[in-house]
Amino acid sequence: MSLELPIDIDSVKGFLAEDEADALYKATKQSSLLGPCLEIGSYCGKSTIYMGLACKENNGVLFALDHHRGSEEHQKGEMFHDPELFDSNEALMDSFKEFRRNIRAVNLEGTVAPLVCSSDVAARQWSTPLGMVFIDGGHSLDAALNDYRCWASHIVPGGILAIHDIFPNAEDGGQAPHEIYKLAKASGLFEQLSLVNTLGLMRRI
Ligand code: MG
Repeated sequence: MSLELPIDIDSVKGFLAEDEADALYKATKQSSLLGPCLEIGSYCGKSTIYMGLACKENNGVLFALDHHRGSEEHQKGEMFHDPELFDSNEALMDSFKEFRRNIRAVNLEGTVAPLVCSSDVAARQWSTPLGMVFIDGGHSLDAALNDYRCWASHIVPGGILAIHDIFPNAEDGGQAPHEIYKLAKASGLFEQLSLVNTLGLMRRI
């Protein structure tokens, strides 16, 4: 990728392939001209860094929404549990400290506005039109549907809806992101742009 990062990105915990990161950066670079961008599911900030750097170039803002208590798959005993992100005092996952550290390391504190709460709470009285929404939160069907229903309607015409972890074949991964991707396609509200690895990109008509 041509983008120069002020950090060794491999040192940031997270799940984002290089081609997806590149596509996410480019999409954010365009859509942050239309309004603030919102990421759902920031975890330790890997995708936040790519989106944030793009927003920063346009003097934009990236809302980074995550309750930082981990999705189902991050909980103790689950497949993607990371003991380093477990706060034993609270007996809860806590990725916020690690997130803040990474955002500070790349000088994005003036661009990224963390929303440390659930998608429901953040959406309840939200009325700001968004240039882009990136859905990468919980991967249960309930969580993915909720994120789609809460946020897709706030995207301005010409803005972008991005969805991570789309696996058209069920053997390759969970189907919830693919389900909301299909919903968005069927809604008639979005024009399909591209599927880069597992990252689906659509433009609001
Ligand atoms: Mg993901």
